[in-house]
Amino acid sequence: MAEFANIIVDISNEKLDKTFVYRIPQALSSKISVGVRVRIPFGSRKITGYVVELKDETEYDVSRIKEIAGVVTGSVPIESQLIALAGWMRRNYGGTMNQALKTVIPVKEKKKAVEKKTVCLMLQPAEAKSQLAEYIRKHNTARARLLEALIAQRELAWELITGRLNVSGSVISALESAGVVKVLRETRFRNPVGQMEKKEYRLRLNEGQQRVVDAVLHDYDAGGRKPWLLKGVTGSGKTEVYMELIAQIIARGKQAIVLIPEIALTYQTVMRFYNRFFDRVSILNSRLSAGERYDQFLRAKNGEIDIMIGPRSALFTPFPRLGLIIIDEEHENSYKSGNVPRYHARETGVERARMAGAGIVLGSATPSLESYYRAENGEYHMAELTGRVREKPLPACTVVDLREELKEGNRSILSRRLTELMEERLRKGTQTMLFLNRRGMAGFVSCRACGHVIKCPHCDVSLAWHDAVEGRGRLVCHYCGHEEAPAAVCPACGSKYIGAFKAGTQKIEQVVKARFPRARVLRMDFDTTRSKESYEQILSAFANREADILIGTQMIVKGHDFPYVTLVGVLAADLSLNVSDFHAAERTFQLLTQAAGRAGRGEFPGEVVIQTYHPGHYSIVTAAAQDYGAFYEREIEYRRMLLYPPVWNLLVILCASEREEAAGRGAALLAAEINAYADRQADRKLYLIGPADAAVAKVKDIYKKVIYMKARDYQTLVAVKDLAEHYVRDNRDYRDVALQFDFNPADG
Ligand code: ADP
Ligand code: ZN
Ligand code: ZN
Repeated sequence: MAEFANIIVDISNEKLDKTFVYRIPQALSSKISVGVRVRIPFGSRKITGYVVELKDETEYDVSRIKEIAGVVTGSVPIESQLIALAGWMRRNYGGTMNQALKTVIPVKEKKKAVEKKTVCLMLQPAEAKSQLAEYIRKHNTARARLLEALIAQRELAWELITGRLNVSGSVISALESAGVVKVLRETRFRNPVGQMEKKEYRLRLNEGQQRVVDAVLHDYDAGGRKPWLLKGVTGSGKTEVYMELIAQIIARGKQAIVLIPEIALTYQTVMRFYNRFFDRVSILNSRLSAGERYDQFLRAKNGEIDIMIGPRSALFTPFPRLGLIIIDEEHENSYKSGNVPRYHARETGVERARMAGAGIVLGSATPSLESYYRAENGEYHMAELTGRVREKPLPACTVVDLREELKEGNRSILSRRLTELMEERLRKGTQTMLFLNRRGMAGFVSCRACGHVIKCPHCDVSLAWHDAVEGRGRLVCHYCGHEEAPAAVCPACGSKYIGAFKAGTQKIEQVVKARFPRARVLRMDFDTTRSKESYEQILSAFANREADILIGTQMIVKGHDFPYVTLVGVLAADLSLNVSDFHAAERTFQLLTQAAGRAGRGEFPGEVVIQTYHPGHYSIVTAAAQDYGAFYEREIEYRRMLLYPPVWNLLVILCASEREEAAGRGAALLAAEINAYADRQADRKLYLIGPADAAVAKVKDIYKKVIYMKARDYQTLVAVKDLAEHYVRDNRDYRDVALQFDFNPADG
């Protein structure tokens, strides 16, 4: 039993780390845990605070520490629940309690209220339409986009226009001077979307959708709280299922959180929710300032809204009557936080739902291995939507063997089959998307003649190319540290066409333009979206058929409907197979399935060409056949054999220091300590690998060493984390070494 408690007295300001130590009286010890609200003596007063941490010892003078006076009973405030959740996160992902609190509790900024601006359409409908035609004729795309949105909705929030619609403030001002719009300013807080014209929106669910809704609700009403996994291809109607479930949950007096990866949080998607739930819904996105986030959370807490939609962090919306959490595209990497605590929103969502007594639904066309595994083991319920709503057939898929192309003299990035089909599209006036798999661009070494990739002899992941300071560079395994010199000829076939694979979207654009000089080509990648020709602008230009061919990376395959795209080409599908990461096959399958899903969304049937050096690899074969089940069977077998998640669990401990020697020594000592611990365990359910250099061994003059651990049970790894934290505390060897923990890393 812990003797002391850290207590926070005010969690609405930025000083979350300002806690006070109190003694836990014997009589209360069974009632005190993280998150519990207590009464404490504070100066001459008695006030209330929240327990944020339990401690066995304290550095303060024990005789001067006061005792907790009592536990506040009655309804549990939402703050208690979030603090308890922060405690759970700290325990399961590492880091300090303060870091965990800052993640779950929005901080109020001391800043004066921001002015809220709304843009209103000043023209009558007929006038507006002819003005729109004028803008389109003059290729004023930004103006056209804004006017089109305002015709649908006479009033829009400034943030929505400059954010989601990507129309700049100067364009709005120009339209205001022209008398097309008027900007209303007010300081009172409003919903970011402004007031809506209420038009009733509701579809009749089809039989399959209704069956899923009934099953989930029946279970919910019966008190069942096991998570649901909803599997259904893109376009199978999952979003409609979510909305119906939410409506039913709200009818029961509850509130709902919907997580959608930021990249898929498009204007279209957001509008579907608004059109159904009006101003009872709010969105969070990374463009909001800390103050705006705080306002959003305050409205949620006060019951002004029932639904919060947003990326990962929306999970911490302080709804006091949370009834349902939806996590769409649950397989997405972006649900794993890159900052300490490195939590996964799926696992944390399941825990939050458990604490709140809420239901949780995870949706995906290509569920993560984790979720599917749990569903198979009965930890999750499984529901499925088969087929697309409008009976659109899935596109026909051709796999092209790039080794054959080279053998027959074609050294172009474009295979003959793909070129042929692109020509046909150009003739018929439909569109093509070329997708370059960018994952894994960080140099692995492969053979262009036979496709052989140099792999680690110990770990079955590809070796990564590291540039040497002098000499020819080396190949390194990011798992075990194995190193070797690069070969001059392919060890499999003897060809000299072996080297680090490099091909960017820019290069592809050049090739396409040279091959099809009259085609209108758009390119979208990290470079083009950083400049002002940004993401939504490129996508909407393509959607408006201002181009014939769109070339891009991952970004182009997410959640957009392009009805005139009838051909998707995947260039070098295997790039993502070669990253030194045990998720490689899973990510490849997901990306290919998503990319293929882009073709044939409209009236015309689609075709997909997948170019690869590994036409026989199961992730490519099963993606081409759109066969998730077959993929899962193969992949889980591989994970089982190598004891990778979700069958076992991984923990990476990162030791970082400005001094290489300190980082190395710290990692070695810690690894020895953990090994000794592992030896003391009766059944060896814990393996340790390393220490080794991190994938990027030195960043901004900070040296990084890593220790990898595999354990059957997650809690074994939590015990290792506790041991490590304890070991380095007050240990002189770690004075300038920082430890970081990453459980089941998303890209390790
Ligand atoms: P998903 O979320 O699985 O990609 P959506 O819910 O977005 O699928 O549905 C795909 C398309 O089908 C959307 O345009 C949606 O409006 C439409 N749709 C979904 N359910 C129905 C239905 N029951 N009746 C008619 N159209 C539907
Ligand atoms: Zn070869
Ligand atoms: Zn290795």
